[in-house]
Amino acid sequence: MTLIDGDIAASHDSVLEQTKPVHRRAAVFIDRDGTINEDIGYLSHPDDLHIYSFAAEAIRLLNDANLPIIVITNQSGIARGFLDELMLARIHERLLNKLAQQGAHVDGIYYCPHHPRIFPNESYVIGDKSSDINLATNAGAKGILVLTGYGASTYANLERFPCYPSMVAEDLLEAVRLILTERQQQSRD
Ligand SMILES: [Mg+2]
Repeated sequence: MTLIDGDIAASHDSVLEQTKPVHRRAAVFIDRDGTINEDIGYLSHPDDLHIYSFAAEAIRLLNDANLPIIVITNQSGIARGFLDELMLARIHERLLNKLAQQGAHVDGIYYCPHHPRIFPNESYVIGDKSSDINLATNAGAKGILVLTGYGASTYANLERFPCYPSMVAEDLLEAVRLILTERQQQSRD
């Protein structure tokens, strides 16, 4: 896991703190491309960042529910030379600014999350690819497949993949609503 910038580094400890088992705090891990913003292949410039119209509202709902949000993004484009870490930081700065303009914030952005260590069992991973669902399953979290980005194709080929999602949602906003509904039901039990 690699931290993107200082502000996010500052929030790193608090996320770890919040996800200690003793706190039983959930977190929501949200895939970036195809889930928060359009997947255009290798996003390599801030001007090409197109956030889905529902994304800020979805993230705001999680903010209101006091759920920490971590954006996860696989950045093989860096290894492939499509962009460097400085450009990635600029893209993420744009993402954070656009969300902030709509009153939404995330607690961290990680890329290449090959060894997730801070997943509590009550957490969720939202994404459009089978790799997102595998990540959720391997971490003991619940995977929610969204049908944006590559999601429709992932859904059509589910039987080919090692892990099934816990839930399937039209988009990030519906996924968030499913999470909040499930948590309300759990708190009543
Ligand atoms: Mg994706």
